[in-house]
Amino acid sequence: MGRAASMVELIKTPNQSLRLRMTLVATAGGLAHIFLLWVCLQLGFFRGGTGVFLALAGIDVAGRLTFLVLIMTGANLRFKEPSLTLPQIVWATLCVIAAVNFVEQGRLVFLMFFLQVMFFAAFRLMLRGFLYITVLAALGYGLVILNLAVRHPESIHVRIELFQWFGFVLVMLSLSLIGNMLNAFIQGYRRQNIELTAAMKRIEELAVTDELTGLYNRRYILDIINDQRSRVQRNERTFSVCYLDLDHFKRINDTYGHQAGDVVLKRVSEGIGASVREVDWVSRFGGEEFVVVLSGSDLESARQVADRCRRRIKEISFDDVAPDLWVTVSIGVAQYQRGETIDNLLSRADDALYQAKEQGRNCTVCETALLQAALN
Ligand code: GH3
Ligand code: MG
Ligand code: MG
Repeated sequence: MGRAASMVELIKTPNQSLRLRMTLVATAGGLAHIFLLWVCLQLGFFRGGTGVFLALAGIDVAGRLTFLVLIMTGANLRFKEPSLTLPQIVWATLCVIAAVNFVEQGRLVFLMFFLQVMFFAAFRLMLRGFLYITVLAALGYGLVILNLAVRHPESIHVRIELFQWFGFVLVMLSLSLIGNMLNAFIQGYRRQNIELTAAMKRIEELAVTDELTGLYNRRYILDIINDQRSRVQRNERTFSVCYLDLDHFKRINDTYGHQAGDVVLKRVSEGIGASVREVDWVSRFGGEEFVVVLSGSDLESARQVADRCRRRIKEISFDDVAPDLWVTVSIGVAQYQRGETIDNLLSRADDALYQAKEQGRNCTVCETALLQAALN
């Protein structure tokens, strides 16, 4: 995969895409701040003129672009906190504070940008982070007042300015508390979402698998056969089914006990699973009966797979359960005939299985008879 393509793939992952969106929103906030500065410049409230404005805007944009590039290239993943929330917030804070230093009227308007910064922080930071921003902003704003009081005393009314500073700090503190609550809520929601996703996955697994053997259950294999059937109707590949039934299993239960019978079922399941391809489906259809769906297999290749299963099962060792215990299986095979119902297909495989039992068990019989039931 090319570098650009892998970057696009990375950006598409949910986490990176959320980080990119957050950073874009923060960048939009930064642009709004620059626009407000420009308005300030036009109204004549901005000390320093166009040169200082351009320098401030340039530095602000360069910082924002750096964050965007870091996230788009995936370089952010090397950091402990890949969303880069705190660095972005510190950057926004420094940019606002630096700008306020040059604003002669309406300084409070710029401090309102911290509302946006605090909301941004709510997605990531805990109380400590909020307080950190509050201290940074309060200190920065305090330094601006000090600087103006010393160097431009004519442009500032210190008592009003301190009163505003005090109000600003109080608002920031209360926003820290609210932001912290919001963050706790978001984190709880995230955790719950992760737990729910895991639970859903487990439920889905349970719904399609057999508890004892871990194979697919009857309901699921019927869905699979239905799906395969639709493919054949659409002129895609054919498929076959093998119907397996353990020989004299009742006798095994009676002789060695039900628990030994369960061990046999589990090992036979593993044996069948190991005898088929990745693309095939193995199910426990009921008690000691298994149905295997072989996608793309015609009758002859299905017969070969079935016979491989049969020989493998015969070789399974149960020495740890009982030294003289072994098990064989009879198998009926049928290839799907276009237009036939699922019941019909299974009943043909079952007939073949019955013949295998009749022929003395431990053998494979293919059903080649024409359709028995009416085609739909
Ligand atoms: P055949 O060769 O004709 O198939 O003989 P069989 O004894 O296998 O046939 P039958 O259908 O009479 O017996 C099936 C047995 O499978 C009866 C039942 O007790 C046993 N069985 C079904 N489910 C389980 C299970 O989950 N665990 C165990 N241990 N035995 C089971
Ligand atoms: Mg049976
Ligand atoms: Mg049986």
